[in-house]
Order: sequence, then structure tokens, then C-alpha cells
Amino acid sequence: MSEPSFATKAVRDGIATAPVNSPAVLPIFASAGWVFRSLDEVDAIYEGRLPGTVYGGSGVPNHEAFEALIASLHGAQAALATAAGMSAFTVALLHLAAAKQRIVAAHDLYGNTTKLLVDLERFGVIHELVDIADLDAVRGALRSPAALLIAESISNPRIRVADLAELARASHDAGALLLVDNSLASPYHCRPLELGADLTIESATKFLGGHYDLVLGCIAGSRSLIEPMRALASRTGLVASVHEVWMGVRSIATLELRMARSSHSALAIARWLAAHPKVSAVHYPGLDVTAQATHTLRNGFGPMLSFEVVANRDAVNRMLAALQAVRLVLSFGGAQTTLSHPATSSHRGLSPQARAALGIHEGFLRLSTGLEDPADTIADLERGLSAL
Ligand SMILES: *Cc1c(COP(=O)(O)O)cnc(C)c1O
Repeated sequence: MSEPSFATKAVRDGIATAPVNSPAVLPIFASAGWVFRSLDEVDAIYEGRLPGTVYGGSGVPNHEAFEALIASLHGAQAALATAAGMSAFTVALLHLAAAKQRIVAAHDLYGNTTKLLVDLERFGVIHELVDIADLDAVRGALRSPAALLIAESISNPRIRVADLAELARASHDAGALLLVDNSLASPYHCRPLELGADLTIESATKFLGGHYDLVLGCIAGSRSLIEPMRALASRTGLVASVHEVWMGVRSIATLELRMARSSHSALAIARWLAAHPKVSAVHYPGLDVTAQATHTLRNGFGPMLSFEVVANRDAVNRMLAALQAVRLVLSFGGAQTTLSHPATSSHRGLSPQARAALGIHEGFLRLSTGLEDPADTIADLERGLSAL
């Protein structure tokens, strides 16, 4: 037999067979194509009688590992990894919303989630925004038939905790499903499904990833809700990247350590800010603990807090310039403590009046507590506040 040509060698000679022993962590299956030994094997894998992978675009074993981990942490039957947190909302709404149907949603949802609901108006899906802290208002809005109630376990940027058990009861009494965005809490601090929610979404870009180095989302719930969404994610190309789900599994191994540390530090920082003469308000559920915060959250109150100072834009810029470690980053959930400024970022699309109605002004700042020694963070914040 003649030696294969250069082009053939370039295609064939990199294909390894599986080793005899196993690696300690699941390697990245960066393979879009998968080999079948027979048509019977194709049938068996398609029909779920044999474990196997059909095609990289619908998920490889790394997706299964990440999804099994998310389902396990939330006590869910099933979970789906998506390209970002917003893709989880997209597949959920594609599956659950139809023309002429109503969605009731918290009036202070993450900005892109509200904008997505506005996008859906073009397809005849109606939405109504309510203050979900007002259970009578929620029940009132659910009196007209609704398919879905959307809430966040901890809201952004006012860090308000929703009473998820009550919201689940109100939704189910009205024949609606409850979908909870749990991005600010993570399953370490809140497990919405255990409190009665039907679906929980997370932007794994935040605390699940935990290092500001990946973009990923997930949704968990019953098998009957998640399986049709899995098919939709595949049809719409919203499946997560294999590298991101691999990083997700790697990161979640330290979720408890990171969240416990950051949450503990956040309480110390919140107490210090509350006593600071230049700080007019601190929003942190661990300061004036409410019954609904302890019903909804566990293991403390999380790494996110916000605070208000009397300052215009120039003064905030002076404060940012005086900080040596805490930087302005328009995300949250990384290993480093960072600040964000909702008036120029998440809420920049709103009119000054609409922002004021939500209590967001130039001196409103959100802090994502990282893994540093909180004494060092406090020393840096003192440098910043002194510049005001
Ligand atoms: C970041 C975020 C999202 C969107 O997640 P992406 O991963 O950026 O798509 C949704 N909800 C909340 C509360 C978020 O903070």
C-alpha cells in the first residue's frame, strides 16, 4: 500500500483512540462530528437507549456534565446549558409564550430581560410589569389569565429579596408558572425550585463562573419543561460553547468557598458603609433582615450590595480615580471586588424621571464583593469616599 498523501495524513493522523485509563477531570470534547459504528447505533443514541453524542451543535458530554451539576445543585429533574444568561430567557420564552398570552414580570428586572419582553410584543405576547414586593399587586395582575410570572430572587441594583414561596403560591393559584432569575444569589444562597418556582435561570457569567472570564447561562426545572427547550436551543443555535461549560464545571467546584467568603465580607463592608458619614443609604438584605429575606435566602445574604452617596457625576469620577484596587466593571460575580454605576450602565436607556422613580441617581453605586480580605477593600473604599 502506498504511503497516504500529505493532505490525507493532515486529516487522519491526529485522530487518537481513547486511552485505557481515565483522566481525573472530563476533558473538553471539542468535536462537532461523532462517529457511529452502525445505523442501529444511530437509532439507539437518537432514542436515548444508548448514551452517546449525535452532534456537537446539540451538546457533548461536557454539556451533560455541566447540566447534571446545575440540576443537582438546584434539586431539579433537568437543566440546560445555554450560550448566555439571555439565551436561557430566549429558549424559555420561545417555549412558553404565545401570541395573545400575558406575562407578568417584576418592574425592576434586569434591563435586557425587560427589553426582551418588549421585543416579544411584535409577536403578540403581552406583558405587564408589577412591583413583586407588593403581593396584592401581583395577585391583581394575575387575575387576568397569564402564562408566566417572572421575578428575580435578588433584584438589581436595589438588592431586594423576593418572597419566592409566596410568589409561587400566587402564580399557581392563578394557573401561571413562576420563572426566577437567580443570577445574583446563585444556588448557594437560593434554590428557587425548592421554594415552589417552576424554572430557575442563571447567568453563569456571574457567580457560577466567578472569575469574569466566561459567558454562559443555564435553566433548570422539570424534565417536561426543559426537554422541549433543549430541542429549541439546538434549533436556534443557543447551545453553550464547549469551552464555557467546561470552565463552568471547573468554577462551580469552588462556588461554596467563594460565595461564603464574599457573603461574609459583604456583610462587614455593608456595616462599615452604613456607619460612614458620606454614605446616605446602604441596600443589603443582611442589614435589616426581613422575614422574606430569610425565607428566600440561605447561608447568609450574598456578595451584592449597593449604596448611595450625595455626589454628582464629577464627584463619582473623583471617587473612582482615588480607588486603587476596586475598579469600575459593568458586570458582577468576579473574584475581584468591583463597583458599577447603574445610572450610566444598566439603567442608561431610561429617562432621568424613570431612573428617579426606581431611586437610581448619579450617587447610586453597586458593589460586587470579591474574595479579597474585606479590611483591604474597606481601606480602598475609604480612599474613594474621602475624595467625594
Ligand atoms: C447578567 C444578567 C443576565 C444576563 O446574562 P448574560 O450571561 O449576560 O446573558 C440576566 N439576568 C441578570 C440578573 C443578570 O445579572
